[in-house]
Amino acid sequence: MTQKIFVAGEWRVGRGDAMVSRFPADGSLNAELNAAGLEDVEEAVEAADAAWRAPAWRDRLPHERAEVLYRVSDLIRSRLEELAALQTRDNGKPLAEARALVASAAGTARYFAAACETLEGELPTQRNADFMTLSQYEPLGVIAAITPWNSPIASEMQKVAPALAGGNAVVLKPAEATPLMALKLGELFEEAGLPKGLLSVLPGRGSVIGEALVRHPKVRKISFTGGTNTGRHLAHVAADKLIGTSLELGGKSPTIICEDADLEQAVKGVAYGIFSSAGQACIAGSRLFIHRSRYDEVMDRLEAIARGLRVGHPETPGVHLGPLINQGHRDSVAAYVDQAREQGGRIRCGGEIPTQGELAAGSFYPPTLIDGLAHDSAVCQEEIFGPVLVALPFDDEDELIGLANDNVYGLAAGIWTSDYRRALRLAGKLEAGTVWINTYKKFSISTPFGGYKESGLGREKGRQGIQAYMQQKSLYLGLDAAPMNWCD
Ligand code: NAD
Repeated sequence: MTQKIFVAGEWRVGRGDAMVSRFPADGSLNAELNAAGLEDVEEAVEAADAAWRAPAWRDRLPHERAEVLYRVSDLIRSRLEELAALQTRDNGKPLAEARALVASAAGTARYFAAACETLEGELPTQRNADFMTLSQYEPLGVIAAITPWNSPIASEMQKVAPALAGGNAVVLKPAEATPLMALKLGELFEEAGLPKGLLSVLPGRGSVIGEALVRHPKVRKISFTGGTNTGRHLAHVAADKLIGTSLELGGKSPTIICEDADLEQAVKGVAYGIFSSAGQACIAGSRLFIHRSRYDEVMDRLEAIARGLRVGHPETPGVHLGPLINQGHRDSVAAYVDQAREQGGRIRCGGEIPTQGELAAGSFYPPTLIDGLAHDSAVCQEEIFGPVLVALPFDDEDELIGLANDNVYGLAAGIWTSDYRRALRLAGKLEAGTVWINTYKKFSISTPFGGYKESGLGREKGRQGIQAYMQQKSLYLGLDAAPMNWCD
């Protein structure tokens, strides 16, 4: 049966090209569907524009808007297992990770419901002699939300929930590889009673459907998560239209192990930071700097951990790394490792595409640890987006900061040390939007997230996450009963 898409509150066969969703573990078919066509984009944006202006949404009090998000959160939690199973089929993440992502989507909906109920305007000036001012937040209108394939439902909810809470309508364009979770989200919002037209879900090619969506004159903000090159292109489109963007882009995040770190904790944290999700995480800690005095010990321990990780079918309990999203991406990861090998890098473990047993059928790649490369090599500088960790020694803090910041990205960083003064000193010097100290890849929805440098623009999450989808209007209230006397 052809999977339908969600356009302007209706489920229908898309009017674009045929596309398929496949299970990355073995290439088997999840669903066949037709992508959205250009007519679907037009219809979705027109419906969204009418829906956010309609009294049914615009005049709904914040706590009433929040009701829809609370209901979605409850629905997600009550169907967690079913949704996690779908997430695993859609992008190959091990079930345990998929469960965590689904649960985080429920938490995000709940958080923005609560933030919506308690959103306040501002009173910028106290009463002046003859006027006072108020500043209120109003919706932007139609939001184009564009998401990547690596954390479906979580990254989608991070855009849809605050945008709806802010009184907007959303047209969501999920990644080509993972249409199913986004469509499921459409179903959940419909079941939760979201008025028709406020959310459409349009799977399809970025260069066709995504492009038509962001260029539509009625789209008033582009909220994008994905690669830096795509983000840069969308920033140009937004500049031409003079609309806002929020860009959550790529990374090549440094993690640092100082000589006084608790090594047991540090190596496990570093391994989790790069090898969970098979390294397909924007915040993956993919460059490791180790103080020279602990270098050999850390590398031995890391190698032992990496060799002990289980790569396997994502539905099998206890598997640490599932497949990469598809074979094309797996080949691109493998090509980076081959390049490291050619340049004299030492492949301490991993580094070969599995060709035996169940792993041969899917797009698997083993945890790979490399050292012996120059920091300006492509493997040290470029985002690989796979389970590949490259390590370098450092001698002192100045050298360390120079190396850690010598990269176009600035998404995240990690510091492992038992000296909090040192941790805070280093954190202050690192060019990164998020710095984890003695932990890694932990998230709180109430804490703003976003990148420095080419890792992005703007912040998601946090109470300001709703205001990112709103604009401020200032009101001046005259208090003086007498006419203005300037022309007397
Ligand atoms: P991508 O940039 O190729 O695609 C992302 C989305 O953009 C997809 O939905 C795609 O169809 C769409 N798109 C592509 N061209 C478009 C165009 N011209 N107009 C409109 N939409 C277009 O990224 P990807 O390969 O799907 O995802 C991996 C990247 O995402 C990595 O670089 C990763 O670091 C980044 N990412 C960043 C964050 C973050 O929060 N900073 C989170 C997850 C992933």
